[in-house]
Amino acid sequence: MSQITRRDLIKIFGASAVASTGLFGASKAAYANNAAHIVVVGGGIGGASFAKYMRLINADVKITIIEPKAEYIFCPGSNEIFSGHETLENLTVNYKTLKNRFKIDVIQDIATEINYEKHEISTSKNGKVAYDKLVVSPGPEFVYDFVDGYNAELAAGDFPHAWKTGPQTMKLKQQMESMRQGGTILISSPRMPYRCPPAPYERASFMAAALEKINPTAKILIMDSKDNYVFKEHFEHYWKDKYGFGTDNARIEWVPSNQGGTIAKLDAANKTVVTANGDKIKADVINIITEEKAGRFASANGLTDKSGWVPFEPKTFASLVHPDVYVMGDMVDANMPKTGYVASNQGKVIATAIHDILAGREPGTPFITNNCVAMAGEDFGMTITATFRYTGEGKGYSVQERRSAVTDNPYTNRVRAEVAKNWQRTFRKDMFS
Ligand SMILES: Cc1cc2nc3c(=O)[nH]c(=O)nc-3n(C[C@H](O)[C@H](O)[C@H](O)COP(=O)(O)OP(=O)(O)OC[C@H]3O[C@@H](n4cnc5c(N)ncnc54)[C@H](O)[C@@H]3O)c2cc1C
Repeated sequence: MSQITRRDLIKIFGASAVASTGLFGASKAAYANNAAHIVVVGGGIGGASFAKYMRLINADVKITIIEPKAEYIFCPGSNEIFSGHETLENLTVNYKTLKNRFKIDVIQDIATEINYEKHEISTSKNGKVAYDKLVVSPGPEFVYDFVDGYNAELAAGDFPHAWKTGPQTMKLKQQMESMRQGGTILISSPRMPYRCPPAPYERASFMAAALEKINPTAKILIMDSKDNYVFKEHFEHYWKDKYGFGTDNARIEWVPSNQGGTIAKLDAANKTVVTANGDKIKADVINIITEEKAGRFASANGLTDKSGWVPFEPKTFASLVHPDVYVMGDMVDANMPKTGYVASNQGKVIATAIHDILAGREPGTPFITNNCVAMAGEDFGMTITATFRYTGEGKGYSVQERRSAVTDNPYTNRVRAEVAKNWQRTFRKDMFS
């Protein structure tokens, strides 16, 4: 962007606008020509939503996404890969429409260091990129050390967590399919917060559907580091009906933390886990879903606080480190669940806030929703609808939440499952088509 002097600004806006000393006053002057360059770190759900919606409300700004992968694979829907109702190909999208139709530049690279003073971001291969506004959505990092003996190498090998859709998902599916008859799959569900709270239980459900056909005497043991989880009543209702949950012959068993569910150690050589109580459990397939924290990019650039997550100014999602940097998605410390639905809506809030700031307006009051869906089977869906109203107090938002009631009505349960499937389809198209 060319340098604009104070004298130029007075010519354009008059002295009163330039005299404004607040954040929004300063931006009003600097970006009035709408030629700002907005750089986005991460072309996942949050980053892609932001970029597309920023373009839809502002045709003039230059938008560049920095993203290392040529394709993005969605996690929503990925649990159905285990039952054969979904494929990796179907969940994979690319950046062509964002580039060609929405005129968004995509640099295939890893963003490394932010120079807050110079408004520059370094990349691994493409040098430095200058920005006027930086939007950061690189997602979370997986934390292995809560289970002694577990690490990224084991996860990439014989103990996939598959909490990022891709080769690990396919490896876990293959392990499930080639397991001996009557074998056990152990799923370890982590403490909160982690991305998509119902997803470990959804995974167990879709694995159970697959096992029913290929390995009817096999079992799934969910070892939980919590004593409760979202939609517990719904999942158990379905599991009782379909998989004998609560009986000696149950296909799915759930062990809460207060009954010894927390896993403390992995003995990889013997395919055994050791619980926090010291019990040893051998399993044929071990799927330890890790804990999470904000990723390396956020911590290396000082965006995190001691919680390991990223704090932010709640009205605009501006970082507390620098007002021209905006943070979002799974890595932020919000009183909202870490879902794609929320990340996408945070992206829209940031787009409108930046648009307002560029136009010299005070950003409007944000309102965020999470209409999350989950499935226990192709014929059983469940929904949660939550609203997050900006209050400016505490973490910035008040929360109201409603969940679908548990019902035996098969029609209602199937409709909810179809709502979930349709949401996944439209959600993918919303940001990448
Ligand atoms: C099994 C499973 C099921 C799920 N189901 C649902 C669901 O049904 N509904 C729902 O709403 N949510 C669901 N989610 C959660 C959802 O996937 C996440 O909440 C969402 O992806 C978060 O978006 P994000 O932008 O923060 O991160 P991501 O979507 O992970 O995107 C981060 C992007 O940043 C890139 N990146 C990382 N580091 C850098 C760097 N240094 N430089 C440049 N780019 C970088 C990555 O390559 C990636 O493309 C599910 C998650 C899982 C694991």
